[in-house]
Amino acid sequence: MSEYVKNLMVDVKAKNPAEPEFHQAVQEVADSLVLVLEKHPEYRSAKVLERIIEPERVIMFRVPWVDDQGEVQINRGFRIEMNSAIGPYKGGLRFHPSVNLGILKFLAFEQVFKNSLTTLPMGGGKGGSDFDPKGKSDAEVMRFCQSFMTELQRHIGPNTDVPAGDIGVGGREIGFMFGQYKKIKNEFTGVLTGKGRNWGGSLIRPEATGYGAVYFAKEMLTTRNETLEGKVCLVSGSGNVAQFTTEKVLDLGGKVVTLSDSQGYIYDEEGIDREKLAYVMDLKNVRRGRIKEYAEKYPNAVYTALDRNADHNPLWNHKADCAFPSATQNEINGKDAQNLVNNGVYVISEGANMPSDLDAVNIFIENKTLYGPGKAANAGGVAVSGLEMAQNSMRYSWTREEVDNRLAMIMKSIHETCVTTAEKYGTPGNYVNGANIGGFVKVADAMLDLGIV
Ligand code: NDP
Repeated sequence: MSEYVKNLMVDVKAKNPAEPEFHQAVQEVADSLVLVLEKHPEYRSAKVLERIIEPERVIMFRVPWVDDQGEVQINRGFRIEMNSAIGPYKGGLRFHPSVNLGILKFLAFEQVFKNSLTTLPMGGGKGGSDFDPKGKSDAEVMRFCQSFMTELQRHIGPNTDVPAGDIGVGGREIGFMFGQYKKIKNEFTGVLTGKGRNWGGSLIRPEATGYGAVYFAKEMLTTRNETLEGKVCLVSGSGNVAQFTTEKVLDLGGKVVTLSDSQGYIYDEEGIDREKLAYVMDLKNVRRGRIKEYAEKYPNAVYTALDRNADHNPLWNHKADCAFPSATQNEINGKDAQNLVNNGVYVISEGANMPSDLDAVNIFIENKTLYGPGKAANAGGVAVSGLEMAQNSMRYSWTREEVDNRLAMIMKSIHETCVTTAEKYGTPGNYVNGANIGGFVKVADAMLDLGIV
């Protein structure tokens, strides 16, 4: 670690105690940026990285609501407005009991670089709540979302801050929040993305993150003159990103053999075909069930419960070619990464945000895998959110093909940026450096132009 990064991390840890995920995200980016800061002393003297690390604004608020039993419940709401140098704050809302300030700061920090990589004019933000939608009735979710938006609406707007979905926030939650925003503000604007088709949503937005992660894998494979045809793929999660990753892998001739949720995973050696995927979509999106039920419906599949005390996750210990982590942060540790490499996996395209810890990232890089970090590989979601904003501004809708083609082009361009930037800074094939530096430079140059603000 360079002296500069060492000192920076001492400051970051002192100023942001008990936020390990934020420290991890900053460390990874700072390690890459040493290469660019050496060549550009103007970034150092203007303290650009030090300013990017500090959110422009952090909003934290009470979210009171009444459950179906008539009891008062209180959750905590957040919005981190991290950086608006290149456009309005943009990034998802996460509803999950694990949500805290540090997790949202890491996500908002990553979002700044990711949004810059998409080539669209979007700054970075993230928000959410420790509310758990699991096991709640639709009416409870609606009351929570309305209370959450009653406060959040003061801070957002189509030219200020445009939230979207993330873990625990899908079409249902976006609908309830958009309805409340519209009622309070008395205006129909593109203030949220991931909206339903009939009320301002874009085609392909639900599919975009998963499809994009697969397009990114396809681009990485092209550098070795290979395709996804016949490739065996491990996918984690069974939510939005995992489902559409599976769909696109099937479209491109690959085979997905795993899916998971926070309680366990299924391994289906025969592969999850379209009929089985339709079952998963109904199970998770309509019936809101658990992935365990897959193995009851398809007895050839094996279900394994997750052991939180184990030193590795068995999902990552199967013979395969590609891995698409699509559940949550730090789901792959060093041991998992070694297991993946030992089992022949050489393509890792991250649908989730920061699913690999720093040990795992180093193992992927040392083993010369095609490792696409989340801020590049899962940028398709926010890219199509940007396209949704553009369509809302024009009061116009593009066709499915138009949006999908634009998504594929954007993923190709992000891939190209990663490859050329990594080469330019003397680390060919290192997509981590490519993504971090590629995302940083545009934001840093804008910050220099805009003065010390
Ligand atoms: P969903 O809520 O639709 O699905 C999340 C999935 O991950 C569920 O299967 C969930 O299981 C599982 N999961 C959540 N937390 C944990 C945990 N602590 N341990 C194990 N499994 C867990 O969310 P998304 O699919 O939208 O998001 C998945 C990942 O992709 C996240 O990292 C998110 O930040 C990232 N992402 C999402 C984008 C989007 O457009 N939606 C854009 C870019 C990145 P369970 O049902 O048991 O909770």
